[in-house]
Amino acid sequence: MLVFLEHSDGQPDDISLQALTLARDLAAGAPVHAVLAGPGATDAAAALGSYGVVTAHVAEHEGLATHAPVALARSIAEVAGRTEPAAIAAAGSERGNEVIAHVAAIMDAPFAANCISAEPGDPMPVTRVRWGGSLLEEARLHGSPKLVTVAPHAVAAQASGTGDAAVETFTPSLSDADLVVRVVERVTQSTAGGVSLADARFVVSCGRGAGSPEGFAPAEELAGLLGGAVGCSRAVTILGWRPHTDQVGQTGTKIAPEVYLACGISGATQHMAGCKGAKRIIAVNTDPEAPIIANADYAVIGDLHEVIPAITAELRKEAAG
Ligand SMILES: Cc1cc2nc3c(=O)[nH]c(=O)nc-3n(C[C@H](O)[C@H](O)[C@H](O)COP(=O)(O)OP(=O)(O)OC[C@H]3O[C@@H](n4cnc5c(N)ncnc54)[C@H](O)[C@@H]3O)c2cc1C
Repeated sequence: MLVFLEHSDGQPDDISLQALTLARDLAAGAPVHAVLAGPGATDAAAALGSYGVVTAHVAEHEGLATHAPVALARSIAEVAGRTEPAAIAAAGSERGNEVIAHVAAIMDAPFAANCISAEPGDPMPVTRVRWGGSLLEEARLHGSPKLVTVAPHAVAAQASGTGDAAVETFTPSLSDADLVVRVVERVTQSTAGGVSLADARFVVSCGRGAGSPEGFAPAEELAGLLGGAVGCSRAVTILGWRPHTDQVGQTGTKIAPEVYLACGISGATQHMAGCKGAKRIIAVNTDPEAPIIANADYAVIGDLHEVIPAITAELRKEAAG
């Protein structure tokens, strides 16, 4: 089993550890190898022993200093050529899916994206999320190696022991063509209170019902009070009221907060694809027939311009004792 690990600040990303957990179960005792690249990869690799990785292969190449999907895929294929895995796995993140799609093309191997489960076997039975989460598909993967990505938050990341992973560095042979697509600039989005949408425990989102960019001010205030983040629907980003980085959904950020407060959002399937990992969904909508009401744990039928400030006022009263 070979797993492509994404990481930041010298730590493996949680969604990659989730993919590693599923891959380890799938390996059923066979050795698990990992591939990492980029700054901090060696530090992140060292932590993988406790997740069952026996060898972490760190690709070192100046072209891999930033995200370069084809070059990463070429590096993974190179390790696969040496280790001959039965399967290759990664997180079903935008990057994971992109990189593994390139591996599939390079190795002419079958690829099932966004799996929530996979069983050992040939063909390998998988269940995967399709159509933005509105259906689960049962499929069988033939051929070798079998490539899977794991839908974020479908599996909990679980350590398996305390063993150390052997860390082996290698220099992949990359051509200029492999480096044509790569990140050349990174702009950090300023986040209220330093909490990113993807990691926030509380997310207060507004949709078209906010009425204007200024209509987000109560959501900003409430999110700030809760130490959370503000999200929005695609209708809002299309209108230019908020940046795309705030968008929750199939083509936005996928979130799994403790509480998702969705205000003035109708609840289209593409939106729900991004927030159904939330532990609790509270909807605020003037329309009792809005689809989000059926998907919510709690609903308030009312005007968000009145309901959000009322929640904020109540929380402030509570805090004041
Ligand atoms: C390929 C594809 C990908 C997509 N990806 C995404 C995605 O990632 N994320 C996403 O969100 N959408 C996505 N969409 C768009 C999606 O289909 C919907 O069009 C979008 O989510 C609608 O946004 P909305 O709920 O804000 O707007 P609307 O559907 O217009 O709903 C507005 C809601 O606000 C309510 N409302 C109005 N005024 C108030 C008020 N004062 N107080 C309370 N409630 C009020 C209304 O009753 C209504 O329910 C995608 C679509 C496609 C085709």
